[in-house]
Amino acid sequence: MELIDSHAHLTHERLAEDAEAAIERARAADVVAIVTVASSAADAARAVELASRHEDVFATAGVHPHEADSASAEALSEIRDLLGRSEVVAVGETGLDYHYDFAPREVQRTSFAAHLEMARDTGLPVVVHSRSADEDTRALIAEAGEGVRGVLHCFSAGRELLELALGVGWSISFTGLVSFRNYDQVDLLRSVPLDRIMVETDSPYMAPMPHRGKRNEPAFVREVLLHAARLRGEAPEALAAATTRNARRFFGLTTAEAT
Ligand SMILES: [Zn+2]
Repeated sequence: MELIDSHAHLTHERLAEDAEAAIERARAADVVAIVTVASSAADAARAVELASRHEDVFATAGVHPHEADSASAEALSEIRDLLGRSEVVAVGETGLDYHYDFAPREVQRTSFAAHLEMARDTGLPVVVHSRSADEDTRALIAEAGEGVRGVLHCFSAGRELLELALGVGWSISFTGLVSFRNYDQVDLLRSVPLDRIMVETDSPYMAPMPHRGKRNEPAFVREVLLHAARLRGEAPEALAAATTRNARRFFGLTTAEAT
């Protein structure tokens, strides 16, 4: 069973020192590729550096909505430069988080719009975080329109946002949330078509059962997959094959095909 962790933060301070060993443990757990996702311009540079040293690690470049205050013209121009690097497979993560409101909402919206524009300009897909912001996320995705492909990562939003995203050809990615006893979105998880679903860890956050509450790492994407397959009523092998194929296609990953 080959797996891809479509969203991890290997350069996060809780993982960075252990990143090399975590990559090794992921390989041992049949993870054939990891997309390490940036949360700021400086973090994107670190992600690219890490990806440049590992054929099975790929990077993104963008400013997390929590850090949208740092999305200055200068930071966005640094990100634009990094988007030209061969290791970089997506713009992001960007989006809106009205749950924590770590940055003013207007600033988050401006940064999100700038990232959607970069995705359009480069043809790269965009990785979107949306929490308690369904309505504005819907509006910005609709405004971006055709020509921008994206993924709603760590999906926890409502049906209207899910349907809008699927309707414009976007993908949906699930984390260890699906393994929690109180997970209450099984109907939404089930309604994502098999050719649009991806799995991720969002390491170091969101550790799936039985690791809940501990630091997460890419090897645990297997648990996410197993729980998602059980809830969708699918064979794990079939869901693994689909999610891996989808992640390769979505990010244009050049990892060796299954042998
Ligand atoms: Zn993330």
